[in-house]
Amino acid sequence: MTVRSGKGYDFHVEVSEEIHEACGVFGVWGSDRVDVARLAYFGLYALQHRGQESAGIACFEDGKAHIHKQMGLVSDVFTAEALKTLKGNTAIGHVRYSTAGSSDLKNSQPILVEYQRGYLAVAHNGNLTNARIIRDELSEIGSIFQTTTDTEVIIHLMARSKEPAMVEKLIGALNEMKGSYSIVLFANNELIAARDPYGIRPLSLGCLKDSYVVSSESCAFDLIEAEFLREVEPGEILVINEKGLQSFFPFKKVQRRHCIFEYIYFARPDSFMFGRTVYTIRKALGRELARGDSIEADIVIPIPDSGIGAAIGYSQASDIPFELGLIRNHYVGRTFIEPEPSIRHFGVKLKHNAIHDLVSGKSIVVIDDSIVRATTSRKIISMLRYYGAREIHFRVSSPPTAYPCFYGIDTPSRKQLIAASHTIDEIKTYMNCDSLRYLTVDDMKRAIGDGDYAFCDACFTGDYFVPFPKEMDMEQMELFAMDFTAKTD
Ligand code: AMP
Repeated sequence: MTVRSGKGYDFHVEVSEEIHEACGVFGVWGSDRVDVARLAYFGLYALQHRGQESAGIACFEDGKAHIHKQMGLVSDVFTAEALKTLKGNTAIGHVRYSTAGSSDLKNSQPILVEYQRGYLAVAHNGNLTNARIIRDELSEIGSIFQTTTDTEVIIHLMARSKEPAMVEKLIGALNEMKGSYSIVLFANNELIAARDPYGIRPLSLGCLKDSYVVSSESCAFDLIEAEFLREVEPGEILVINEKGLQSFFPFKKVQRRHCIFEYIYFARPDSFMFGRTVYTIRKALGRELARGDSIEADIVIPIPDSGIGAAIGYSQASDIPFELGLIRNHYVGRTFIEPEPSIRHFGVKLKHNAIHDLVSGKSIVVIDDSIVRATTSRKIISMLRYYGAREIHFRVSSPPTAYPCFYGIDTPSRKQLIAASHTIDEIKTYMNCDSLRYLTVDDMKRAIGDGDYAFCDACFTGDYFVPFPKEMDMEQMELFAMDFTAKTD
């Protein structure tokens, strides 16, 4: 459907199966004096950007467990009354956008179960690529699944384990799983956090007086005034209980592969992740873009919010003044986050507007962090031209996104990624800009500076280092179309 405005320019954004945000997890183990539910609530507030479809908190107290979860934003899901029911000394929380499993309440997290050994609640960020296979095997022998999430498979494997200690049960379950996970769980009054051996998705550890907290991103610690202790190491399992904190490294060591897209787009700029502050990286990517660019433009403008860090870096390195040429309406979710397709019709018009007299007559460098289908950028360029921009030079602070993610970021199928089937020149023509430049993979690596940290860049290179059994290529992620042929080992 095309929506044509009365002013004669086309602001339409097609309804799309765009890529969606991953999830955010939070956990707290505290003494009786700490209101763990409230800490989890504020933690989830800080992680809201990681998932806006559902939010939930589960708590454990003296042999009882409580849970409250609903579809919607953290601010809508939790009332003061709801928080009062969440008593205990251990809490885990989750904000979700579905990467595996369909979008409804039954798939929201944490998942809480009561089984022979008591209560078990799990919150997971990532994607378990062989979950479908294991799920089918378990179903064959009589397991009944309550959700369609990959996370529930872990719970089944743990419940079946004969190991006495909860951490051993978890290790056994994770030994069966492939893919990415940053997990927090409680089993009775023990909090356990685990990160996959590649460290694909982020997870950090903090403390607050005599409580421990774990969070997908460190920005949650700032909000609750917890001290950042360190990142949970790839392949590390932390067990927190009244004896204190114990750390285990039960898995074979592999080369770490942090998700580079967390730096480029997902994470909040104020988070410290993979050894660096996200904002610093975004600026470095922008500076790298400016290197070797000889455009003589009047202003540099970001597509807010995702392009801001890179645009500041570009402006500082090029001496072209930074301006906020586009204003974002902050009361609209990210264009692609809303699972309900109807809201996407409004697209760019709903979210961004240009400052007319600022852009009029100007040669403009427009910066964004990534191009997915080029629908947003095309509409923004159309709007800037309508308001009189003279030249538009589009710069992207990442390489062409040409491959879907199988490790926790829900991307469209390969055929919907414009860079998978079009040259940069063709994309430029489609977007109707005067010039278009991306970072190369080498530029990106140079800007980020690998150091001890190695990254997963599969969305740019197709280097899928966690193998996919051929027969389950597409089944893992239900939102993907069926046209993708992953590299298989
Ligand atoms: P488009 O111009 O239609 O290709 O959309 C590009 C925009 O999508 C950029 O502003 C990106 O910041 C944003 N984007 C990239 N990845 C994601 C994602 N996983 N979820 C939501 N938005 C994204």
